Amino acid sequence: MSSRTAPRSVAIVGSGPAGLYAAEGLARKHPDLRIDILERLPTPFGLVRSGVAPDHQGTKAIQRQFGKLLQRPGLRFLGNVEVGRDVALDELRAAYDAVILAIGAALDRRLGIPGEDLPGVYGSGAFVGWYNGHPDWRHLDPRLDGPSVAIIGNGNVAVDVARVLAKSSAEMAASDICAHAAAVIAAAPLAEIWLVGRRGPAEASWTPVELAELGRLERAAPVVDSADIPAVIEEADPRLLRIREKTLETLRGFAAAPPDGKRIRLHFLFNAAPVEILGAGRAERLRLARRRTGEAFEIRASTVITAIGYRCHGSAGAPLDAERGIVANVEGRVAPGLWVVGWAKRGPSGTIPTNRAESFAVAEAVAAELAQVNAPKPGPDVLDHLLAARGVTVVDHPAWLRIEAAEAAHARAGAPREKFATLAELLAAARAEDAPTSSSHERAQLNAPRR
Ligand code: NAP
Repeated sequence: MSSRTAPRSVAIVGSGPAGLYAAEGLARKHPDLRIDILERLPTPFGLVRSGVAPDHQGTKAIQRQFGKLLQRPGLRFLGNVEVGRDVALDELRAAYDAVILAIGAALDRRLGIPGEDLPGVYGSGAFVGWYNGHPDWRHLDPRLDGPSVAIIGNGNVAVDVARVLAKSSAEMAASDICAHAAAVIAAAPLAEIWLVGRRGPAEASWTPVELAELGRLERAAPVVDSADIPAVIEEADPRLLRIREKTLETLRGFAAAPPDGKRIRLHFLFNAAPVEILGAGRAERLRLARRRTGEAFEIRASTVITAIGYRCHGSAGAPLDAERGIVANVEGRVAPGLWVVGWAKRGPSGTIPTNRAESFAVAEAVAAELAQVNAPKPGPDVLDHLLAARGVTVVDHPAWLRIEAAEAAHARAGAPREKFATLAELLAAARAEDAPTSSSHERAQLNAPRR
């Protein structure tokens, strides 16, 4: 085979939506391409598995489509392989004609206010990872022992966190929330959840459908001060105007709803910027400043969850744009043969479909670059040798299917799966061993009849 016709190879680092859509874009147009998808966890799908709310199973259904993609000839899934630990980025670049980083934005942005490091304060990445079974956060053990939780931020992640905390066990029964988290939330003595926005309701970045869900909860009722809702808003973009008007209409509905006997009050607090988290050895109160007057006031909050966005850690060794918290790039191009997609490329914005068009566009640019390659690099064999020599346990696609089957088999009645949330459990399931799980005790508790 001449070097012109020898297959080209691409390594994609990260198996979330952005990486998988890049793989799909490349595979569709170039079926001969050899594509390896490296993932540091034993499980694929990134935020579809560990970010999307456990009660939004409709959104998670995209996993089926992604699962089919992983079975494509020429494409391999290599789970439990971390770039920067098991293989260096430079080694990958030497082996593959192109490397695409799809490493997401795994670090919580910080508020930069005093008290942020007190026990009881959590970033949404950690908190969501905890209830969604991300092994990094299995042992977060967040304090949910007080009546009042403050969630900072007015985006969809803040809404997700508020809803997961506010829903009853019955409402979460068909979700895939991890048993360890479901048990803690069910036992929490929650009476009030504050959704804190530093700007007004018209500037909130949540979407109206997600917001409206907060008005239909069994044990929680929204509380909105109608004085916070402007009568008219100015917005030049007609699409944004419609979204914002829908938000205001939903909030007006919340404000007008008669009081009811629900246990949890879901307070919407607008135009209130966090100034300090106060407490003796742990979070107890949140001090805020009113936007227009600067007047300071406090709310009680024994748990504070910040849902204010994320930044890329860049641990794969790629150049970082520290200010924006992304991998430095121009339209996805980082350096010759090195590309970036998804949140690591543009920052933490957009939904799953946003990644489709964007990753397809980067895939086109990668393919154009590959067409210029005269001497293909050695490809996947080099990686296989490196990983074997280093004793790395690769979780391939059949092994992932064993994990998936075991999680389904462990599910409580009505739930799609019970995720394994530690590496030991995941790797045992990948080997098809019947390892005792740390979750089994909690699962038994969850299934026990309530007194
Ligand atoms: P986001 O939409 O960017 O919201 C971040 C929020 O944090 C904003 O309200 C922002 O206020 C606020 N914030 C930032 N810095 C702050 C500070 N220092 N003090 C107080 N507030 C601060 O981000 P996200 O909620 O993390 O969501 C990330 C992306 O995932 C979004 O595109 C979202 O739509 C998507 N997502 C979608 C779904 C869904 O479709 N169901 C679910 C989850 C996430 P300002 O506007 O004032 O900056």
